Parts: sequence; structure tokens; C-alpha cells
Amino acid sequence: MGRTFCEKHRLSSIELTCQHVAEEIKNKRYGRFHDAAILLVCEDCLHKYHLEPLEDNSLALSDPLSDDERLDEIFHELEIFEHMEGRATLCSECIAVAKVEQARRNGEIDPFPTYERTLNSNHGNEIESFQTQLSANFKFAKSVRPFAKKNPFALFIKPGAYTYPLTVMIYYVTSESQQEQIIQFIIEYFRWKDLNQVKVQFYEAEVWKLKSNPETGISSAERGMEKLLREVCLNCLKERE
Ligand SMILES: [Zn+2]
Ligand SMILES: [Zn+2]
Repeated sequence: MGRTFCEKHRLSSIELTCQHVAEEIKNKRYGRFHDAAILLVCEDCLHKYHLEPLEDNSLALSDPLSDDERLDEIFHELEIFEHMEGRATLCSECIAVAKVEQARRNGEIDPFPTYERTLNSNHGNEIESFQTQLSANFKFAKSVRPFAKKNPFALFIKPGAYTYPLTVMIYYVTSESQQEQIIQFIIEYFRWKDLNQVKVQFYEAEVWKLKSNPETGISSAERGMEKLLREVCLNCLKERE
């Protein structure tokens, strides 16, 4: 799915909705919406556009779809979306916020963990200084990413969002005592900070898969399956405080 620029959440993935869902989400309300494969619609639009057979609940009962059938379904839905009167592309994080706020108003427990106290893509400077401190205090291996002009340390920090925390990915640090020192450093670093939710992941090694586009002749690399050795989530409990 594509990406959108949201004023609140900056770069995030998009969801396709009818205008009625969009109006509700804008007011942080989440009603009886229906998830029909790639569309999120209200009750009326579900019937109006005959999306009932595509609702995820009904799919679960039938045999799983093959890739071709799934692709057909997506094209079919995109066509419906193209012709929908009043349609919207929304930020998926805004939808998540509405879902949680609605559950809280209803006195229900949160539908999924939320990270309201994490550094996100609005905090570029803070994330950069954390990264600088971390690499000044520990010796990290260099990344082996192909085609990179100048490889950085094998230490990557992904900004958090409403639905996931700031994530620190570290490669080649395999000894438990070294991992522990890094974790203790991060605990201390965030001890007195308000935005302190962090996930730390230690991976055995980087795995890069090479791809080349036969039409353009351009080669590129993407991450393959990497072995996660250890994962620690700091300050991730008690999200509702
Ligand atoms: Zn609708
Ligand atoms: Zn948003």
C-alpha cells in the first residue's frame, strides 16, 4: 500500500475509505466499519457497493485465496474505489488513534498496544543525538549494505509511531554481556525522559538480497530474513497512564 504525508504522523501508510468513515475518523470516532480486503467502509457503503463477500470475516470461513485470486480481488476493489462517490485516502495511524479513543470512550480495553510516549518522526534531532551518544559509547561493526557509498555503523534507529515504539536495530553484537551493557546504557539515557518507549533488537548478522531490474539494468538491495537474537521493550507497559 502507498504512503501519505500526515500533518500529525508525517510519513505513514494509507488506507482507502468511503467519505463517511473519513468524517468519523476526523472526529476520532470509530463506528461499525467494515474491513473489506483493502477498503474500510461504513455499513451503508458495504451494501451499496456489494462488498459483503469481500469482508474479512467471510473470507476466513472459505478456503484461503491463491495469489492470483487475491490480486483479482484487489483490482476489483480498486475499481470500486475509483468510482466511489466521495472517497478518501487516510493515514493509517489516524485510523488507529480513532479506534483506540473510541474503545476508551466505550470503557473497553485498548484494541492493540499504543505508544504515546515514544520518539517519532517529528523528533529527528532527538533521535539523531541519541544515535550519536550510542555510537560514541560503543564500538559497532560497519554495515555491509551493498552499493552504499559510505557504510554507516550496523546500528539503525527507526522512529516510532502511535502503533509501534522507537526501534533500535543492532547487528553483530552477539555476546550477552555486551548486549546487556548497551541495554543498560539505553535505560539510563531514557530514564528521565518523557518520551521513553523503546524497543531494542539484536540481530546476528545483516542479510542483503540483491535485485536487478532487467529493463533498466539497475541493481538494488533489500533486507532478507535476519536472525533476531534478543528483543527488549523498555517502558512499553502501562501505556494508558
Ligand atoms: Zn460510507
Ligand atoms: Zn495521521
